[in-house]
Amino acid sequence: MRVGALEAGGTKMVCAVVEVDGGTSWEILERVSIPTKTPQETIPAMVDFFKGKGIEALGIACFGPVDLHRDSPTYGFITTTPKAGWANCDIVGPFREALGVPVGFDTDVNGSLLGEATFGGAKGLENSVYITIGTGVGAGIMSNGRLLHGMLHPEAGHVTLKRHETDRDFACNCPFHDSCFEGLAAGPAIEKRWGRKGTELAGRPEVWELEAYYIAQALLDYIMVLSPEKIILGGGVMHQPQLLPLIREEVRRQINGYIRTAQMENPDEYITEASLGDDQGILGACCLATEAKACHYSS
Ligand code: ADP
Ligand code: ZN
Repeated sequence: MRVGALEAGGTKMVCAVVEVDGGTSWEILERVSIPTKTPQETIPAMVDFFKGKGIEALGIACFGPVDLHRDSPTYGFITTTPKAGWANCDIVGPFREALGVPVGFDTDVNGSLLGEATFGGAKGLENSVYITIGTGVGAGIMSNGRLLHGMLHPEAGHVTLKRHETDRDFACNCPFHDSCFEGLAAGPAIEKRWGRKGTELAGRPEVWELEAYYIAQALLDYIMVLSPEKIILGGGVMHQPQLLPLIREEVRRQINGYIRTAQMENPDEYITEASLGDDQGILGACCLATEAKACHYSS
């Protein structure tokens, strides 16, 4: 089946036309990246890209918060984002109207997790978590085989973390919380704390030890609450190769022997990087499209 896939981000919109064959294989036929300007400029440019491409459905994996409730009058809207111009923006409607195909919709991180669960490292598992640590922090969650939505959708990047004793005076970078995961550990928090971008701090072990301390605390909470069978980490900050081993070690230290499972004995397979080479988001959007087609979502 030929589908459209949109990975909608705060800096860029990745649009692709993909040929998918069930949950087994895929071919990305065409892909463009469109800068995220205003909805008035950017949405028509994306619609134009997908028009006339013969797609049978479209999947949108979108930055949030978003309204995922199909019976809500604002279903398919980006809701309260601080991203200028995009608050209360209908991102599903214009595509459905212009393209006349079913449109699937979920958060960007649920999309990435769905990609990994369909084609990648979380394939065959019913319980998994995908965390992105980049400009912000977000997590997609699959629980008993279904992406978790709930009241809104998980906002696991804003869980409260205990400060490291060396970091008590740092002013948390989140405008809503004084000690949350995103505010202490996302890329902009690293830059604020150390006065340089993460990319320029590779040779400073204390930066990544503190980072691992915070990330591991959040992972510990996810492990205790959700009991995932695999945890996948993505996003720009995870491009620091020394970070993942530090996180695994710190998770093991903080769990302190309390949980004893085969997965915990094998942290290299339990806590991993994304397996689809940064295509997990676009491939997850494809899965949202095929699901929408199968469910006949037309409104
Ligand atoms: P976004 O979250 O906007 O989609 P990314 O996932 O690429 O984009 O995250 C961007 C953030 O990650 C920035 O704060 C950037 O400084 C940080 N970042 C990107 N690459 C690296 C790297 N190699 N090491 C550390 N931090 C990085
Ligand atoms: Zn916060």
